[in-house]
Amino acid sequence: MSFKPRCTFAIISHPDAGKTTMTEKLLWFGGVVREAGMVKSKSGDYAKSDWMELEKQRGISITSSVMSFEYNDRALHLLDTPGHKDFSEDTYRTLTAVESVLMMIDSAKGVEAQTIKLMEVCRMRDTPIVTFMNKFDREAMDPFALLDNIESILKIQCVPMTWPVGNGVDFKGVYDFKTKQILSFKDSKDPFTPSYVDASDLDAPSLLEAIGPALVEKLKEELEMVATLIPEFNMDEYQAGIQTPVFFGSALKNFGVKECLDLITQIAPTPKPREAVLAPYDSNAEKITIDPSDKEFTGFIFKIQANMDPKHRDRISFMRVCSGRFERNEKIYHVRTGKEIRIATPLIFQARDRDIAEEALAGDIIGLYDTGKYQIGDTFSMGKKHIRYTGIPSFSPELFMRVTAKDPMKAKHLEKGLSQLSEEGATQLFIRRHTNEKMLGAVGALQFEVVKYRLEDEYSVEASYEPVAWAGVRWLKFPDKKSEEKFAQDYSSVIMEDKDKRLCFAVRTEWDLKLAMEKNPDVKFFKNSDYI
Ligand code: GDP
Repeated sequence: MSFKPRCTFAIISHPDAGKTTMTEKLLWFGGVVREAGMVKSKSGDYAKSDWMELEKQRGISITSSVMSFEYNDRALHLLDTPGHKDFSEDTYRTLTAVESVLMMIDSAKGVEAQTIKLMEVCRMRDTPIVTFMNKFDREAMDPFALLDNIESILKIQCVPMTWPVGNGVDFKGVYDFKTKQILSFKDSKDPFTPSYVDASDLDAPSLLEAIGPALVEKLKEELEMVATLIPEFNMDEYQAGIQTPVFFGSALKNFGVKECLDLITQIAPTPKPREAVLAPYDSNAEKITIDPSDKEFTGFIFKIQANMDPKHRDRISFMRVCSGRFERNEKIYHVRTGKEIRIATPLIFQARDRDIAEEALAGDIIGLYDTGKYQIGDTFSMGKKHIRYTGIPSFSPELFMRVTAKDPMKAKHLEKGLSQLSEEGATQLFIRRHTNEKMLGAVGALQFEVVKYRLEDEYSVEASYEPVAWAGVRWLKFPDKKSEEKFAQDYSSVIMEDKDKRLCFAVRTEWDLKLAMEKNPDVKFFKNSDYI
């Protein structure tokens, strides 16, 4: 890829808000997809493909984990955030590897549950967000109500870039605040030849003719309200995650998408400096900031995907390059194991194709073939530099299973299988302190099925799975050893250890959690594992 400023981003949305449809349209603008379902292959041909659907059904997707394309002189990497059945911790963690986010809202429904959860993760790094109010070709909520819904639930200030004129069967298009023109909505597949209605004079007969008197009146009123109620777009506030520019449109009809993508390519941040710590990685670890322009290469693993081919048990680890230049065949330092590794076949991805990457720069994502050496959060560096990137946590699961081997002789196999599969990051293994029970946690139910299948297939272990109605876990930080011991004793039935032997509190109910927090003001409770 020639040098173009990188834009590494993800789409956050609740299932069915239109993420897949939007992704297809973005890839279409990037020249990767010719029309919905037509994906460009390596040879340059466009072939009918049902790759997205197929991969969705399998609940595992490698090729769509990262989709790269160029548009408006930027190299964009769109990272997949699975949201349906394959929703998992990976979805959260992917957001730690991006610089910005496109938020899709179903305009008939407003903010929905999964968007709230994903937004919480964006908040951890104040990720800048562009918002697309989708499905305006259908009956939608009133635009002010929609903005209010987002502002009150997600606590982010909305600044509309466009304004809808009508909705559903009456949808005429969107008014552009900058050009004072209405981009006409028509069922056209070609957004490169838009048609506009001049709306610089809201009393002009041509406007009246185009949208009718009722909509002219409504538009006048609404534009006045916007002028008095809504602040101007402010780049710094967008960059700080305080403001979000908002577009109204229809991904399905490819309406309003180009305008949204145009703005993303203008304002979305290029790779940012990242926090890391120097060894030894204890609570006194020295914090440093690594700039993407640093000469020396660094990167971290944010996602591990088991290969879809069951005959080959290799996995692909996805590495985000954070600084410097990664070059094929050059030795890089795997900080956790202290080994230097020559990567001969680093992968880059373009829709369904993978290619060998000769080099990669800050902001790029490369895939490393992995036989089980890597773990989520592993840092790579040059020159044996001992650093570790922070901000790649485990998140509190929401679903739990008690897992026991059907054959007690296989208990050790089970533990090994569970902990190895958990290293891939889609599930977490906790060991209950007082009973030694193995508790598997996940944020999406499909992950349990994947684990069950793989335990039988790869480790030959059959196990029983018994759901446990816990709401989550909290990682704990104590002022001293004594308070840790006392707490562990007082709450022994809900104390577990995570994979790194850190103490966690199993949340039976929110009420239990509240009580425990009130009773133990000196103990800190964390919803994710990234604390020092
Ligand atoms: P995802 O679950 O967020 O990936 O959502 P999809 O892209 O699969 O869309 C869910 C459903 O909504 C599909 O039936 C889409 O055809 C439909 N859809 C997506 N965007 C629009 C839109 O702009 N207008 C209308 N009317 N339907 C849409």
